[in-house]
Amino acid sequence: MKYEHILIRFGELNTKGKNKKDFIIALFHNIKKVLKKFEKLEFLRAHDRIYIHLNGEDENEVIKILKEVSGIANMSLVTKTSKDITSIINVALDLALQQEVGTFKVKTTRSDKSFPYHSDEINRSVANEILNNTKHHVDVHNPDFYVKIEIRNEGAFIFSNVIKGAGGYPLGVGGKALALISGGIDSPVAIYLMMKRGVNIEAIHFASPPYTSQNAKQKVIDLLRIISNIKGGAITLHIVPFTKLQEAIYDMGDESYAITIMRRMMYRIAEGVAIKRKCLALVSGESIGQVASQTLNSMLVINNVISLPMIRPLATMDKNEIIEISKRINTYDISIRPYIDCCTIFNPVNPIIKPTLYRAEELEKRFNYEDLLQECIENIETLYIDSSLDNQFL
Ligand code: ATP
Ligand code: MG
Repeated sequence: MKYEHILIRFGELNTKGKNKKDFIIALFHNIKKVLKKFEKLEFLRAHDRIYIHLNGEDENEVIKILKEVSGIANMSLVTKTSKDITSIINVALDLALQQEVGTFKVKTTRSDKSFPYHSDEINRSVANEILNNTKHHVDVHNPDFYVKIEIRNEGAFIFSNVIKGAGGYPLGVGGKALALISGGIDSPVAIYLMMKRGVNIEAIHFASPPYTSQNAKQKVIDLLRIISNIKGGAITLHIVPFTKLQEAIYDMGDESYAITIMRRMMYRIAEGVAIKRKCLALVSGESIGQVASQTLNSMLVINNVISLPMIRPLATMDKNEIIEISKRINTYDISIRPYIDCCTIFNPVNPIIKPTLYRAEELEKRFNYEDLLQECIENIETLYIDSSLDNQFL
């Protein structure tokens, strides 16, 4: 039996009351966008489901892409038939005949209450037909396979499998945040997880040429292209020329505080850009205790310079858990390209693990960083990264 349709179900959207319709429209739009290359697909939006008519496109390819679309709870490859009991029984029998001999259970849901048979009656008629024409047996507790039937306004749908989706919310419904991206393993994963919650992302990268190379910048662009591609959302990237400010920090006289102060500067610039770009929060790939600048003491002192929320999706994850996600979303191989980042070049031998706010503020008084911050912001280079377009300078 060839499946002709994919039926898509929403998860947490069901709790969203009157926003639900907007969420579904956003999801519908995102699904169409990521599947644009499959020209023969047809899409239908119902009030609590989305249907895709395959029209001969490869179902496995389509499903592979849909699995990453945020806001989909699960989906099934289904056969659609007319709402008459004989057709339903025939299609269900076909489905059962394709399974290896084993135990089954028929499960019907009937949201179209005008259909003249109750779910129980349909279950019984279908099960009898299968028992009479196959070697399968019924097991209602632990069946080898299900024959599922949904009687809906749009038709009758028969299927066996349920494929897990990405969950979360449709991209765009959660507003916009500005993510700090380094080119390492963590920050792309943090961005991916934010997008899964429906948040659109702009990104900011601090580059310190000539210490950091064009390759390091390209790495960030390539990472964002991958994420933009799987999530279907364009990402605007702001590249900050950070060299002068960074040199000034290292001339300031206390190397152990260099990273603390450098990160306070990054946060200040990021917040300035975020506000200008109407982003509601900042995002980073920090994980508690991973390095000296990510202890709770460090976070307290660094975070002190901003008032926007800093979301840290990886805060509680171990490195191996983060690596696992980065491999799954195909950012890992790019992240491990060996080009140095601006944090690595000036890495002090003994960075402070428990900085104090008092000391950080005292050191910052030693140089005129305001002008340098301003210069960084004025010279930002902005790129628009959309998986379906070439990079465009804005
Ligand atoms: P990894 O830890 O795998 O090297 P990372 O991206 O976590 O990668 P860290 O040095 O741990 O890098 O930095 C912590 C966070 O600070 C990053 O996740 C990122 O959000 C931000 N960050 C660090 N360096 C930069 C940079 N050059 N530009 C923008 N953000 C940065
Ligand atoms: Mg890290």
